[in-house]
Amino acid sequence: THFGFRDVPTGDKQKLVGEVFSSVASSYDLMNDLMSLGIHRVWKRYFVATAQAKRGDRVLDLAGGTGDIALLLRDRVLRSAHEVAQGKEPGGIVLGDINGAMLRVGRDRMTDLGKVAGFEYVQLNAEALPFPDASFDLVTIAFGLRNVTDKDAALREMNRVLKVGGQARVLEFSEVKAEWFKPIYDFHSFNVLPKLGKLFANDSDSYQYLAESIRKHPPQDQLKAMMEAAGFARCDYKNLSAGICAIHTGYKV
Ligand code: SAM
Repeated sequence: THFGFRDVPTGDKQKLVGEVFSSVASSYDLMNDLMSLGIHRVWKRYFVATAQAKRGDRVLDLAGGTGDIALLLRDRVLRSAHEVAQGKEPGGIVLGDINGAMLRVGRDRMTDLGKVAGFEYVQLNAEALPFPDASFDLVTIAFGLRNVTDKDAALREMNRVLKVGGQARVLEFSEVKAEWFKPIYDFHSFNVLPKLGKLFANDSDSYQYLAESIRKHPPQDQLKAMMEAAGFARCDYKNLSAGICAIHTGYKV
């Protein structure tokens, strides 16, 4: 299925999520900037900069979409041709997503940037990963877990494909902790977002869905408990921007 973008069997929620992301794929990068005033770039940079990643690592970026995280990770894990010639592990990133349209936008983008080496693209469902146990040093999922129907299954799969000592990192919208900010945030989510969606992507429904999916996502402590239940050790989280987002981490032991 590498590069094949074979259709992955999907249920009802997955079908809906599939339609949402097929419909937003081409406008996705622009919309992220508009909706977050560009701040998603800072969150993503921080998420990758603080990851346990080193040269030669094999990384799986789940729900990788158009490849923001994969692109940032690339500089941290890829070895030079010289080092590879010396017999060292080259390092690489598997960009996995359930949606072929998102993957295609991502792959075209990497090609345009001349960043071809080091990436593999796999159309997959995070709930049932097509990789053997202990395949990766690091598994990331950014703004993806909330779209997955069976989150516990996805977390267990992340744990399974990690090598012992490997890290899982989840970047996701979370529960805002600053009281004064809550009304502003609500107004942004339920009034501004759908209007931006209508104006720039001609698609207010998809952006309405995105705002709702953020509210339904488990808050910080609940997600931490879910990671523990999935088998991760030393689980922890860090709030970004007063809890608009949080980074959850856990280790395979
Ligand atoms: N990680 C990218 C980023 O931060 O820009 C993309 C995030 S985008 C909001 C969410 C992605 O999750 C979409 O590309 C969607 O296709 C993907 N997705 C949704 N459900 C999935 C599943 N069950 N397995 C894998 N990917 C999934």
